[in-house]
Amino acid sequence: MIGFWRTCNMAFFDDLTPHTYSPACDLDVLNVGWLDEGHAFAVGRTSRRFQEALLRLCEHPIIRHRGRHTCWFCRGRPRKVITPSHAGNGQIRVLSKKGNWYAAPTLVYHYVTQHGYRPPAEFIEAVIAPIAVGADHGWFEKPR
Ligand SMILES: [Zn+2]
Repeated sequence: MIGFWRTCNMAFFDDLTPHTYSPACDLDVLNVGWLDEGHAFAVGRTSRRFQEALLRLCEHPIIRHRGRHTCWFCRGRPRKVITPSHAGNGQIRVLSKKGNWYAAPTLVYHYVTQHGYRPPAEFIEAVIAPIAVGADHGWFEKPR
């Protein structure tokens, strides 16, 4: 396990910027879904197929850490039930046909289904038909 998250504050990163927040094993990894206070995000309908594929990925996160991220956008509202699979205590990684890896917090599923967040099309494609996912890559270990 990697335990470098010291706080439960989410970091904000623009979609499709290089991911530097956690180990990338010298691969090109792009950020998706690192939403936070004060930053606008794309909104739009996403397919049920995408949402179901995203949920399956978020149920098997990598780089889990202590505590969990909370959704800034839900603060101050009546408390929503966030089941463990929707909580932000890890990341998912998927590899697209284009050869890009994407890193998203597991809260991305909550953002998509509760706040109408629409991730970049290339991420949606990769989630529906990933070439590989983080677990396949052995993300916890350094390449041998
Ligand atoms: Zn929320």
